[in-house]
Order: sequence, then structure tokens, then C-alpha cells
Amino acid sequence: MAVGMDLGLKGKIALVTGGSRGIGRACVEALAREGAHVILSYASNAQAADETVATVTTAGGQAEAVRFDVGDPEACKQTVDDIVKKHGALHILVNNAGISVDGLIMRFKDGDLAKSFQTNVFGPFYLARAAARPMMKARFGRIIMMGSVVGESGNVGQAAYAATKAALDGMAKSLAKELGSRGITANVIAPGYIETDMTKGMTEDMTKALLASIPSGSIGKPDDIANAVLYLASEGAGYITGHVLNVNGGLYM
Ligand code: NAP
Repeated sequence: MAVGMDLGLKGKIALVTGGSRGIGRACVEALAREGAHVILSYASNAQAADETVATVTTAGGQAEAVRFDVGDPEACKQTVDDIVKKHGALHILVNNAGISVDGLIMRFKDGDLAKSFQTNVFGPFYLARAAARPMMKARFGRIIMMGSVVGESGNVGQAAYAATKAALDGMAKSLAKELGSRGITANVIAPGYIETDMTKGMTEDMTKALLASIPSGSIGKPDDIANAVLYLASEGAGYITGHVLNVNGGLYM
């Protein structure tokens, strides 16, 4: 995002799930840099969450970490209620936490399928449901789902993961229709391959083949996604809703 451009994020209250590492961390840092107070959530890695909070506060921003499983409906509701009680509002929800359990369909386990949907689909639903009321009250809201290129393109060994990400498109478009008249937008960002813990298991051959299919010729960085989040969260993006934004270097279009 261009330095000096006012995105209207000062004083906004944001919740970024999975904000301790990877893409989520970059989103937390970017939102905080623009003046938002950011609550970041994580599942178990408290050290990474503390590091992210420390980085933000050292840079003069405001962040705090909360630990809960996004697949737990009570915990999602409690977290949103606590944020609203403490800060008076919740303006921005970045449903970023996600897991990728890969495997060919014939060997894919029921438990992995359930866990994938619990985390990647039910979590965003629970949190959007809890956030809708305070956002309606504020007559302002930005709901951003972290989808994936494979939700649009499909991929071998990712039937479950791709299905969870495609589900977010339908969810966001429905929320856009349901909540649009109250100043609330709902959009999806569909990242391509981004350098994080999630993708670090790729072999050199896989990376080489992938790079050959990306017109930009590079793997994405978490900041590439954070820049898109900043824009969709901004005041100026109020007329963009129900959109799936590819951020993938041209890998899929
Ligand atoms: P990552 O590095 O693996 O980080 C995942 C984050 O989600 C961590 O903060 C983790 O917390 C949290 N998390 C996982 N399960 C959770 C749960 N049940 N409840 C609460 N928090 C949970 O992932 P990433 O690569 O940054 O990906 C972020 C999002 O972008 C995901 O939704 C992913 O599907 C999507 N995406 C990533 C790529 C990519 O290439 N990396 C591409 C397309 C889409 P802990 O630190 O406590 O484990």
C-alpha cells in the first residue's frame, strides 16, 4: 500500500484469526501499522503469537493475542463478545486461520475431512455469525475470508482443502447479500502459493514446476496478501463486496 494514503483504519478494531504466523502475521502487522487495534488469534503456538505482538508494539502499534480453536463455536462467540465488551466494537474480521490436510481421495480419512471443514469453514462461519451484530450496530464491517487458488482451480490431492476454500466463496457472497445494506462488506482473498510454514514442505522439483506456471515467475510473500487485506479492509473499499480477489502472480485467472 502506498505510504501516506489514509485507509481510514485508525482506531478500527480488527480480529485476525491465525495471526501469529505466516500470512496472518503479515496482516496483523499491516493493519496495526495503519493504526488499527488488532486482536490476533492462534491455536497453540504461544511463542509465535507473543513474538507477533512484540513486533507490533515495538513498532508503536497495538496488538494483543488470544488463544482459541476457531472450530469451537462457543469459543468463537465468547471471543467476539469479549472484544466488543473491552473495545466497544469489532469492525474488521479476517478469517485467516486454516489448515491444509492433503491426500488422494481414496485414502483420505473421515477425521481429516471433518477437521478440515471444522477449521476452514465452520470457524469462519461461527466468527462471521458472532461479528454480524456488532458490525450491524456500527453500520460498518469488513469480513475477509482467506480462500485459496485451489478453491477456484482444484488440485490433485487437495479435494478436501479445495472444497473448504470454495465453500468460503459461497459464504462470503451470501453474507454480502445479507449484510450489504448495513455497511458491511464480505470478500474472499484467494492467495496463490505463498512462502509460509504451510508451503515449506515443497521439494525443489515441485517449486521449479510451480514457478514455470506462474507468469510473475515468483512465489508470493505474506505481505502480498496483507496488502490486499489492507485494501479490502479500508474505508475506500466499501463498494467492493461479494468479490473473490486472486493474489497469485497470475497462476490462475
Ligand atoms: P500457517 O503458516 O500454517 O499458519 C496458520 C495459522 O492458523 C497459525 O497462526 C495457526 O495457529 C492458526 N490456526 C490453525 N488452526 C487453527 C485453529 N483450529 N484455531 C485457531 N487458529 C488456528 O498458514 P498460512 O500459510 O499463513 O495460511 C494462512 C491462510 O491462508 C490459511 O487459511 C491458508 O489455507 C490460506 N492459504 C495459504 C496459502 C499459502 O501458500 N501459504 C495459499 C492459499 C491459501 P498456531 O500458530 O497456534 O498453530
